[in-house]
Order: sequence, then C-alpha cells, then structure tokens
Amino acid sequence: MVVDPSSAVRGAGLRATAGRVAVLETLASVSHVTANDVYRSVCEQLPTTSIQSVHNVLADLTSVGLIRRIEPAGSAALYERRVDDNHHHVICSGCGAVQDVDCVVGHAPCLTPSSAAGFAIQAAEVTFWGLCPECQTATR
Ligand SMILES: [Zn+2]
Ligand SMILES: [Zn+2]
Repeated sequence: MVVDPSSAVRGAGLRATAGRVAVLETLASVSHVTANDVYRSVCEQLPTTSIQSVHNVLADLTSVGLIRRIEPAGSAALYERRVDDNHHHVICSGCGAVQDVDCVVGHAPCLTPSSAAGFAIQAAEVTFWGLCPECQTATR
C-alpha cells in the first residue's frame, strides 16, 4: 500500500502544500532524521524554504499522525514515516545510530506496568540502548 505524499497529506485533512509534500517525500526515503537533515534535503527541491517552515511542517505532520517523532535522551528529535505499528528503537550509545525493531506484541501498549497508579495505559515507548556492530568492532 503505497500512497503518494500529496494524497496522504490530503487524506489527513491538510492542504497538500509543496513544503508538506516535500517533507513527506524526504521521510519516505530516510528515517530517524533530525529537522536539520529534513531541511537540507527539502532545500534541494524548494530552495526558498526555511528551517522554521520545516519545523512547522514537521509539527503539522506529527499531529495528524503521518509521521512519528521520537526523542531519544541526549539527541535532537528524530522523525520517521513509519507510524501505527508500535515499533521500537534500538539506539547505539556510541555513535547514536538508530534502528527500528518490531514490537513483539504489535499493538500499543505492548507492556503493562505491574502497577499503573490508576492510569489507563495507552502506550509504552521502549528504547533499547546498546552498541552497534561498528562501535563494537571499534572498541575491540
Ligand atoms: Zn555505534
Ligand atoms: Zn522507527
């Protein structure tokens, strides 16, 4: 199921502006990138765009659920197109490389705390930290 970016934007109830379409197109090919990375790539198609407008577009697309924002500790917010599958992330504590890992259960919340203090739990965000293969080789 591949939806072209402008239909995806319209399907979410937003106007398919050039900026929104360009950001979504960028995130279809790369994932876990910062707003600055997105900006650099969007600039190639839309030289007049600004970092502020990219930030606005990222916020719009995140709020309608077209993209997902993750905020690993110690890193800038990262954006990705893969949404709605409750996947998790494994992050290298050496170089910051991020990879997707599938959710074992497949839907949120995949973890239930032993005591939820009366909260109705909706999601569990799991981040696995470790050393990527390159960093393991480098430390050996
Ligand atoms: Zn690494
Ligand atoms: Zn991801």
